[in-house]
Amino acid sequence: MPLNDGQGRKHDYLRISVTDRCNLRCVYCMVEDGIEQTSHEAILSYEEIHQVVRAGAELGLSKIRVTGGEPLVRKNLVELIQLISGTPGIEDLSMTTNAHLLPRYAAALKEAGLNRVNISLDTLNPVKYRQVTRCGELKQAFEGIEAALENNLHPVKLNTVLMKGINDDEVLDFLDLVREKPLHIRFIEYMPIGSHDQNYDDHYLPLNFIEKTAAGAGLPLSPVPLPGGAGPAESYTIPGGQGTVGLIHPISKHFCSSCNRLRLTAEGTLKACLYWQDEKSVRPALGSKKALQDLIREVLGSKPVEHLMAADKECDSVQRDKMRGMSQTGG
Ligand code: SAM
Ligand code: SF4
Repeated sequence: MPLNDGQGRKHDYLRISVTDRCNLRCVYCMVEDGIEQTSHEAILSYEEIHQVVRAGAELGLSKIRVTGGEPLVRKNLVELIQLISGTPGIEDLSMTTNAHLLPRYAAALKEAGLNRVNISLDTLNPVKYRQVTRCGELKQAFEGIEAALENNLHPVKLNTVLMKGINDDEVLDFLDLVREKPLHIRFIEYMPIGSHDQNYDDHYLPLNFIEKTAAGAGLPLSPVPLPGGAGPAESYTIPGGQGTVGLIHPISKHFCSSCNRLRLTAEGTLKACLYWQDEKSVRPALGSKKALQDLIREVLGSKPVEHLMAADKECDSVQRDKMRGMSQTGG
Protein backbone atom coordinates (compact mmCIF):
# COMPACT_ATOMS: atom_id res chain seq x y z
CA MET A 1 0.00 0.00 0.00
CA PRO A 2 1.56 3.40 -0.96
CA LEU A 3 2.40 5.78 1.85
CA ASN A 4 -0.31 8.37 1.28
CA ASP A 5 -1.38 11.26 3.48
CA GLY A 6 -4.95 12.34 4.20
CA GLN A 7 -5.09 14.20 0.85
CA GLY A 8 -3.92 11.17 -1.14
CA ARG A 9 -0.43 12.59 -1.74
CA LYS A 10 2.09 9.77 -2.10
CA HIS A 11 5.13 10.13 0.18
CA ASP A 12 8.49 8.62 -0.73
CA TYR A 13 10.98 11.18 0.57
CA LEU A 14 12.49 11.65 4.05
CA ARG A 15 14.76 14.54 4.98
CA ILE A 16 16.90 13.79 7.99
CA SER A 17 18.55 16.53 10.02
CA VAL A 18 21.56 14.96 11.74
CA THR A 19 22.52 18.04 13.74
CA ASP A 20 21.35 21.59 14.44
CA ARG A 21 24.98 22.74 14.71
CA CYS A 22 26.74 24.57 11.93
CA ASN A 23 30.14 26.00 11.08
CA LEU A 24 28.46 29.02 9.39
CA ARG A 25 25.80 31.54 10.48
CA CYS A 26 23.87 32.47 7.33
CA VAL A 27 21.81 35.62 7.85
CA TYR A 28 18.54 34.03 6.63
CA CYS A 29 18.96 30.91 8.71
CA MET A 30 20.51 31.68 12.08
CA VAL A 31 20.93 34.58 14.44
CA GLU A 32 24.49 35.84 14.78
CA ASP A 33 25.19 34.10 18.09
CA GLY A 34 23.80 30.83 16.74
CA ILE A 35 20.86 28.94 18.16
CA GLU A 36 20.69 27.18 21.47
CA GLN A 37 22.22 23.85 20.52
CA THR A 38 20.68 20.53 21.33
CA SER A 39 22.98 18.48 23.58
CA HIS A 40 24.72 15.42 22.15
CA GLU A 41 22.60 13.15 24.39
CA ALA A 42 19.37 14.64 23.06
CA ILE A 43 20.03 13.89 19.39
CA LEU A 44 19.23 10.57 17.76
CA SER A 45 22.12 8.14 17.38
CA TYR A 46 22.95 6.80 13.92
CA GLU A 47 21.48 3.45 14.92
CA GLU A 48 18.20 5.16 15.92
CA ILE A 49 18.07 7.15 12.68
CA HIS A 50 18.67 3.91 10.79
CA GLN A 51 15.71 2.28 12.58
CA VAL A 52 13.44 5.06 11.29
CA VAL A 53 14.89 4.70 7.78
CA ARG A 54 14.38 0.92 7.74
CA ALA A 55 10.81 1.22 8.98
CA GLY A 56 10.05 3.97 6.45
CA ALA A 57 11.72 2.17 3.55
CA GLU A 58 9.42 -0.83 4.06
CA LEU A 59 6.46 1.55 3.77
CA GLY A 60 7.74 3.07 0.53
CA LEU A 61 10.22 5.82 1.44
CA SER A 62 12.91 5.50 -1.22
CA LYS A 63 14.62 8.90 -1.25
CA ILE A 64 16.63 10.22 1.66
CA ARG A 65 18.34 13.58 2.07
CA VAL A 66 20.76 14.13 4.94
CA THR A 67 20.86 17.73 6.09
CA GLY A 68 21.12 19.92 9.19
CA GLY A 69 22.52 22.38 10.46
CA GLU A 70 25.66 21.39 8.66
CA PRO A 71 25.64 17.59 8.36
CA LEU A 72 29.41 17.33 7.90
CA VAL A 73 30.12 18.79 11.35
CA ARG A 74 28.62 15.67 12.94
CA LYS A 75 31.30 13.07 13.76
CA ASN A 76 31.63 9.97 11.59
CA LEU A 77 28.82 10.94 9.23
CA VAL A 78 30.22 8.53 6.66
CA GLU A 79 29.02 5.69 8.94
CA LEU A 80 25.43 6.90 8.70
CA ILE A 81 25.70 7.24 4.92
CA GLN A 82 26.87 3.65 4.76
CA LEU A 83 23.97 2.44 6.93
CA ILE A 84 21.35 4.31 4.90
CA SER A 85 22.74 3.44 1.47
CA GLY A 86 22.75 -0.26 2.41
CA THR A 87 19.06 -0.21 3.39
CA PRO A 88 16.83 -2.21 1.01
CA GLY A 89 14.42 0.12 -0.77
CA ILE A 90 16.58 3.26 -0.63
CA GLU A 91 17.19 4.34 -4.21
CA ASP A 92 18.43 7.89 -3.87
CA LEU A 93 20.64 9.27 -1.11
CA SER A 94 21.62 12.93 -1.19
CA MET A 95 22.98 15.58 1.15
CA THR A 96 22.62 19.34 1.53
CA THR A 97 25.83 21.01 2.68
CA ASN A 98 27.67 24.32 2.71
CA ALA A 99 30.60 22.37 1.19
CA HIS A 100 33.30 23.73 3.50
CA LEU A 101 34.19 20.21 4.67
CA LEU A 102 33.60 18.43 1.36
CA PRO A 103 37.25 18.44 0.25
CA ARG A 104 37.96 16.28 3.31
CA TYR A 105 34.98 13.93 3.02
CA ALA A 106 33.71 13.79 -0.59
CA ALA A 107 35.63 10.66 -1.60
CA ALA A 108 34.64 8.72 1.53
CA LEU A 109 31.00 9.82 1.21
CA LYS A 110 30.86 8.64 -2.39
CA GLU A 111 32.47 5.35 -1.43
CA ALA A 112 29.89 4.93 1.37
CA GLY A 113 27.02 5.30 -1.10
CA LEU A 114 26.11 9.00 -1.21
CA ASN A 115 24.68 9.67 -4.69
CA ARG A 116 24.68 13.46 -4.91
CA VAL A 117 24.90 16.80 -3.12
CA ASN A 118 23.17 20.17 -3.00
CA ILE A 119 25.55 22.95 -2.06
CA SER A 120 24.44 26.29 -0.64
CA LEU A 121 26.02 29.19 -2.50
CA ASP A 122 24.31 32.57 -2.35
CA THR A 123 26.95 34.81 -3.90
CA LEU A 124 30.05 34.62 -6.09
CA ASN A 125 31.64 37.59 -4.37
CA PRO A 126 34.04 36.69 -1.51
CA VAL A 127 33.25 39.80 0.56
CA LYS A 128 29.49 39.27 0.26
CA TYR A 129 29.92 35.55 0.94
CA ARG A 130 31.54 36.42 4.25
CA GLN A 131 28.70 38.87 5.03
CA VAL A 132 25.91 36.41 4.18
CA THR A 133 27.46 33.43 5.98
CA ARG A 134 29.06 35.64 8.65
CA CYS A 135 32.09 33.32 8.88
CA GLY A 136 32.40 31.34 5.63
CA GLU A 137 35.05 31.54 2.91
CA LEU A 138 33.96 31.51 -0.73
CA LYS A 139 37.25 29.84 -1.71
CA GLN A 140 36.52 26.95 0.65
CA ALA A 141 32.99 26.56 -0.74
CA PHE A 142 34.41 26.39 -4.27
CA GLU A 143 36.97 23.80 -3.22
CA GLY A 144 34.02 21.78 -1.92
CA ILE A 145 32.16 22.19 -5.22
CA GLU A 146 35.22 20.96 -7.12
CA ALA A 147 35.52 17.98 -4.74
CA ALA A 148 31.87 17.11 -5.40
CA LEU A 149 32.40 17.26 -9.18
CA GLU A 150 35.63 15.25 -9.03
CA ASN A 151 33.99 12.54 -6.93
CA ASN A 152 30.94 12.21 -9.19
CA LEU A 153 28.40 13.40 -6.65
CA HIS A 154 26.22 14.24 -9.68
CA PRO A 155 24.05 16.09 -10.37
CA VAL A 156 25.81 18.74 -8.24
CA LYS A 157 23.14 21.31 -7.44
CA LEU A 158 23.68 24.78 -6.00
CA ASN A 159 21.05 26.24 -3.67
CA THR A 160 20.88 30.02 -3.94
CA VAL A 161 18.47 32.01 -1.81
CA LEU A 162 17.52 35.11 -3.81
CA MET A 163 17.84 38.24 -1.66
CA LYS A 164 16.89 41.73 -2.78
CA GLY A 165 19.82 44.15 -2.38
CA ILE A 166 22.24 41.30 -1.62
CA ASN A 167 22.57 38.95 -4.60
CA ASP A 168 19.91 40.13 -7.08
CA ASP A 169 22.69 41.85 -9.05
CA GLU A 170 24.47 38.50 -9.54
CA VAL A 171 21.82 36.53 -11.44
CA LEU A 172 23.70 36.74 -14.74
CA ASP A 173 26.98 35.76 -13.06
CA PHE A 174 25.28 32.63 -11.72
CA LEU A 175 23.90 31.86 -15.19
CA ASP A 176 27.45 32.21 -16.58
CA LEU A 177 28.64 29.67 -14.00
CA VAL A 178 25.99 27.20 -15.22
CA ARG A 179 27.20 27.78 -18.78
CA GLU A 180 30.82 27.10 -17.81
CA LYS A 181 30.40 24.12 -15.50
CA PRO A 182 28.03 21.13 -15.15
CA LEU A 183 26.33 22.69 -12.12
CA HIS A 184 22.58 22.90 -11.61
CA ILE A 185 21.58 26.10 -9.87
CA ARG A 186 18.31 26.29 -7.97
CA PHE A 187 17.18 29.75 -6.96
CA ILE A 188 15.06 29.54 -3.80
CA GLU A 189 12.66 32.13 -2.45
CA TYR A 190 13.58 33.50 0.93
CA MET A 191 11.23 31.98 3.54
CA PRO A 192 10.17 33.74 6.75
CA ILE A 193 11.38 30.92 8.94
CA GLY A 194 12.89 31.36 12.39
CA SER A 195 13.11 34.77 14.01
CA HIS A 196 14.54 36.80 11.17
CA ASP A 197 11.50 38.91 10.39
CA GLN A 198 13.18 42.20 9.54
CA ASN A 199 15.70 40.56 7.27
CA TYR A 200 12.93 38.70 5.45
CA ASP A 201 10.81 41.80 5.04
CA ASP A 202 13.79 43.74 3.69
CA HIS A 203 15.17 41.12 1.31
CA TYR A 204 12.38 38.82 0.03
CA LEU A 205 12.10 38.90 -3.77
CA PRO A 206 9.78 36.66 -5.82
CA LEU A 207 11.50 34.41 -8.35
CA ASN A 208 9.85 35.85 -11.45
CA PHE A 209 12.78 38.29 -11.08
CA ILE A 210 15.09 35.52 -12.35
CA GLU A 211 12.99 34.82 -15.42
CA LYS A 212 12.78 38.53 -16.27
CA THR A 213 16.51 39.10 -15.76
CA ALA A 214 17.49 36.07 -17.88
CA ALA A 215 15.09 37.02 -20.68
CA GLY A 216 16.31 40.64 -20.57
CA ALA A 217 19.86 39.40 -21.16
CA GLY A 218 18.85 37.26 -24.15
CA LEU A 219 19.04 34.03 -22.13
CA PRO A 220 15.44 32.81 -22.08
CA LEU A 221 14.75 29.88 -19.74
CA SER A 222 13.35 26.77 -21.51
CA PRO A 223 11.59 24.11 -19.38
CA VAL A 224 13.30 20.67 -19.06
CA PRO A 225 12.76 17.55 -16.92
CA LEU A 226 14.46 17.85 -13.54
CA PRO A 227 17.97 16.35 -13.21
CA GLY A 228 18.14 13.71 -10.49
CA GLY A 229 14.45 13.07 -10.04
CA ALA A 230 11.30 14.97 -9.27
CA GLY A 231 11.14 17.77 -6.74
CA PRO A 232 9.57 21.16 -6.18
CA ALA A 233 11.89 23.00 -8.60
CA GLU A 234 10.78 24.07 -12.03
CA SER A 235 13.80 23.28 -14.18
CA TYR A 236 15.07 25.14 -17.24
CA THR A 237 18.00 25.19 -19.65
CA ILE A 238 19.69 28.34 -20.90
CA PRO A 239 21.41 28.74 -24.27
CA GLY A 240 24.92 27.23 -24.02
CA GLY A 241 24.36 25.91 -20.48
CA GLN A 242 26.15 22.75 -19.29
CA GLY A 243 23.91 22.71 -16.22
CA THR A 244 20.31 23.73 -15.62
CA VAL A 245 18.47 26.46 -13.75
CA GLY A 246 15.79 25.58 -11.17
CA LEU A 247 13.26 27.84 -9.52
CA ILE A 248 11.79 26.89 -6.15
CA HIS A 249 9.02 29.23 -5.08
CA PRO A 250 7.68 28.14 -1.68
CA ILE A 251 5.96 31.53 -1.28
CA SER A 252 4.84 32.97 -4.62
CA LYS A 253 3.86 29.61 -6.24
CA HIS A 254 3.79 27.03 -3.50
CA PHE A 255 4.00 23.31 -4.34
CA CYS A 256 2.02 21.86 -1.42
CA SER A 257 -0.33 19.92 -3.71
CA SER A 258 2.56 17.71 -4.86
CA CYS A 259 4.47 17.56 -1.56
CA ASN A 260 6.00 14.10 -1.05
CA ARG A 261 8.22 14.67 1.96
CA LEU A 262 8.53 14.00 5.65
CA ARG A 263 11.18 15.39 7.97
CA LEU A 264 13.05 13.92 10.91
CA THR A 265 14.70 16.48 13.19
CA ALA A 266 18.02 15.87 14.91
CA GLU A 267 16.34 15.36 18.27
CA GLY A 268 13.98 12.82 16.76
CA THR A 269 10.68 14.45 15.93
CA LEU A 270 8.82 13.65 12.74
CA LYS A 271 7.28 16.57 10.88
CA ALA A 272 4.98 16.29 7.89
CA CYS A 273 5.33 19.96 6.93
CA LEU A 274 8.24 22.37 7.28
CA TYR A 275 5.99 25.26 8.11
CA TRP A 276 3.68 23.85 10.76
CA GLN A 277 4.49 23.44 14.41
CA ASP A 278 2.96 19.95 14.61
CA GLU A 279 5.48 17.20 15.23
CA LYS A 280 5.76 13.87 17.07
CA SER A 281 8.75 12.31 18.77
CA VAL A 282 9.88 8.94 17.42
CA ARG A 283 11.56 8.09 20.73
CA PRO A 284 8.64 6.20 22.32
CA ALA A 285 8.45 4.04 19.16
CA LEU A 286 12.15 3.19 18.89
CA GLY A 287 12.84 -0.51 19.23
CA SER A 288 9.62 -1.54 17.47
CA LYS A 289 9.35 -1.43 13.70
CA LYS A 290 5.57 -1.65 13.91
CA ALA A 291 5.34 1.27 16.33
CA LEU A 292 7.61 3.37 14.08
CA GLN A 293 5.52 2.54 11.03
CA ASP A 294 2.29 3.37 12.90
CA LEU A 295 3.83 6.68 13.93
CA ILE A 296 4.88 7.53 10.36
CA ARG A 297 1.33 6.84 9.17
CA GLU A 298 -0.14 8.87 12.05
CA VAL A 299 2.05 11.91 11.30
CA LEU A 300 1.17 11.70 7.62
CA GLY A 301 -2.52 11.31 8.43
CA SER A 302 -2.56 14.76 10.00
CA LYS A 303 -0.48 16.50 7.32
CA PRO A 304 -2.02 19.89 6.49
CA VAL A 305 -3.36 20.57 3.01
CA GLU A 306 -0.93 23.46 2.58
CA HIS A 307 1.67 25.28 4.65
CA LEU A 308 0.93 28.41 6.63
CA MET A 309 2.79 30.68 4.25
CA ALA A 310 0.48 29.49 1.50
CA ALA A 311 -2.63 29.85 3.63
CA ASP A 312 -1.61 33.37 4.67
CA LYS A 313 0.55 34.98 1.95
CA GLU A 314 1.42 37.98 4.10
CA CYS A 315 2.33 35.61 6.92
CA ASP A 316 0.59 37.97 9.36
CA SER A 317 -0.94 35.19 11.42
CA VAL A 318 2.24 33.14 11.44
CA GLN A 319 3.99 33.15 14.77
CA ARG A 320 7.41 33.12 13.19
CA ASP A 321 9.29 33.30 16.46
CA LYS A 322 7.64 30.05 17.56
CA MET A 323 8.72 28.15 14.45
CA ARG A 324 11.90 26.10 14.36
CA GLY A 325 14.54 27.72 12.18
CA MET A 326 15.75 25.89 9.07
CA SER A 327 18.93 24.78 10.82
CA GLN A 328 16.75 23.15 13.49
CA THR A 329 14.23 21.45 11.22
CA GLY A 330 16.62 20.57 8.43
CA GLY A 331 16.40 22.51 5.18
N1 SAM B 1 24.04 23.62 6.15
C1 SAM B 1 23.60 23.04 4.94
C2 SAM B 1 23.53 24.05 3.83
O1 SAM B 1 23.51 25.24 4.12
O2 SAM B 1 23.48 23.63 2.69
C3 SAM B 1 22.28 22.31 5.08
C4 SAM B 1 21.23 22.93 5.94
S1 SAM B 1 20.52 24.44 5.35
C5 SAM B 1 19.34 24.79 6.60
C6 SAM B 1 19.57 23.83 3.98
C7 SAM B 1 19.09 24.84 2.99
O3 SAM B 1 18.13 25.66 3.62
C8 SAM B 1 20.17 25.76 2.45
O4 SAM B 1 20.27 25.61 1.06
C9 SAM B 1 19.69 27.15 2.81
O5 SAM B 1 19.97 28.06 1.80
C10 SAM B 1 18.21 26.93 3.01
N2 SAM B 1 17.60 27.94 3.88
C11 SAM B 1 17.87 28.20 5.18
N3 SAM B 1 17.10 29.20 5.65
C12 SAM B 1 16.32 29.60 4.61
C13 SAM B 1 15.32 30.59 4.45
N4 SAM B 1 14.96 31.41 5.45
N5 SAM B 1 14.71 30.71 3.25
C14 SAM B 1 15.05 29.88 2.21
N6 SAM B 1 15.99 28.93 2.30
C15 SAM B 1 16.63 28.79 3.48
FE1 SF4 C 1 24.46 26.69 8.41
FE2 SF4 C 1 23.20 25.85 6.24
FE3 SF4 C 1 21.94 27.46 7.98
FE4 SF4 C 1 23.94 28.43 6.52
S1 SF4 C 1 21.98 27.65 5.75
S2 SF4 C 1 23.65 28.71 8.75
S3 SF4 C 1 25.27 26.72 6.33
S4 SF4 C 1 22.60 25.40 8.37
